[in-house]
Amino acid sequence: MKSAKHALVVGGGVIGLTSAFQLALHGWRVTLFDPNPGGGATWAAAGMIAPIAEIGPGEESNYQLQRGAVDAWRSFASDLHDVTQKDLVIVEKGTLLFGWDGSDRRLVDQFAQIATDFGVVPRRVSMGDEPAMFEGVSPRISDGLLIGGDAWLDPDQAVALVSEANTALGVTVVDEVVVKVCSDGTRVEAVTASDSFVGDIGIIATGASALPSGATSSGGHTVRPVHGITLRVRGLDRSAQPMIRSFVKGGTFYMVSRPGGYNVLGASSEERRESGARVGEVQRLLRDALDVVPALETAVVLETREGNRPASDDLRPFFEVLGDGRWAWSSGHFRHGVTLAPIAAGEVLRFAEGVA
Ligand SMILES: Cc1cc2nc3c(=O)[nH]c(=O)nc-3n(C[C@H](O)[C@H](O)[C@H](O)COP(=O)(O)OP(=O)(O)OC[C@H]3O[C@@H](n4cnc5c(N)ncnc54)[C@H](O)[C@@H]3O)c2cc1C
Repeated sequence: MKSAKHALVVGGGVIGLTSAFQLALHGWRVTLFDPNPGGGATWAAAGMIAPIAEIGPGEESNYQLQRGAVDAWRSFASDLHDVTQKDLVIVEKGTLLFGWDGSDRRLVDQFAQIATDFGVVPRRVSMGDEPAMFEGVSPRISDGLLIGGDAWLDPDQAVALVSEANTALGVTVVDEVVVKVCSDGTRVEAVTASDSFVGDIGIIATGASALPSGATSSGGHTVRPVHGITLRVRGLDRSAQPMIRSFVKGGTFYMVSRPGGYNVLGASSEERRESGARVGEVQRLLRDALDVVPALETAVVLETREGNRPASDDLRPFFEVLGDGRWAWSSGHFRHGVTLAPIAAGEVLRFAEGVA
């Protein structure tokens, strides 16, 4: 049965958009605020849903959170299909992980141990046995680990499809920044430069941006921006193969190949708020790309995209109910916001239904 309850969603990145969809799908009237939906960190994201390849020492709880992400996206895609009759493409070919030099290969071995400790056993593959998997890769890289279960989607397609579904479900988009929020215990209010809007509950999903005035965390949560770029190039088509991830001279490089030879190369990671892709970070990314995948030499550079990953103090996402319980803040998704979006949206729906 349709509810007349009204939700205000501040921020239209992947977290706000998917939250708005879940709410609208379950009968909520939704107003979403963003001057540029999909234009934050979501714009830069490669779209990897790679809970396993992204395992890091000390990140077990993050891994536990993400391990259901591919299934969560499949279920979300099915709901999207019901509304739009269109398919969200989710490609599950795993990740091929390797190291560039001797010390990078030791990092691969350490990764294998960590993954095994987590109960995931990657398969060793060699260029000799699986040449197609190593297409375009430097001949000095002769073997690697195949990590099954990892997947990717195209965040541009996801944003477009969720936005289309939201429109079909009657979500109103206000293309303005929310400057202030408040609540009187029974209703919430969001104020923009030109108007004010009232609802029953409010969600703040502003990524790495500061909270609007009037919203304060009593749970001690903070977010800081971790700037990153991805480069888009057209050339080598590895879309039938696993994603590539490589340790290279102590850093990491990844490549997600989509059909037609559209490749996303990533990613830099710098603790800074200013925007702009720096020459140095582009140069380092291209250097790593050519070291690991020399076949990219003749690829055509399409564009650079940048965004600020929302990082919390402990690098874990959080969902905090604010003040008198009608506003909630969903952020801190850091390197995994695309991966976690349907799970985060589920949390938003549970909160909303709990208040209503
Ligand atoms: C280079 C790079 C590569 C990445 N690759 C991946 C990947 O492969 N897989 C993965 O899972 N994650 C990846 N991420 C991380 C992922 O992009 C983020 O975790 C995710 O985008 C966070 O989503 P969000 O909606 O919280 O924030 P954002 O996408 O930043 O969206 C926040 C939105 O809020 C709006 N906003 C802010 N303040 C206000 C306000 N006051 N009023 C109204 N609107 C407001 C902004 O305009 C923006 O659109 C990557 C990130 C980067 C930078």
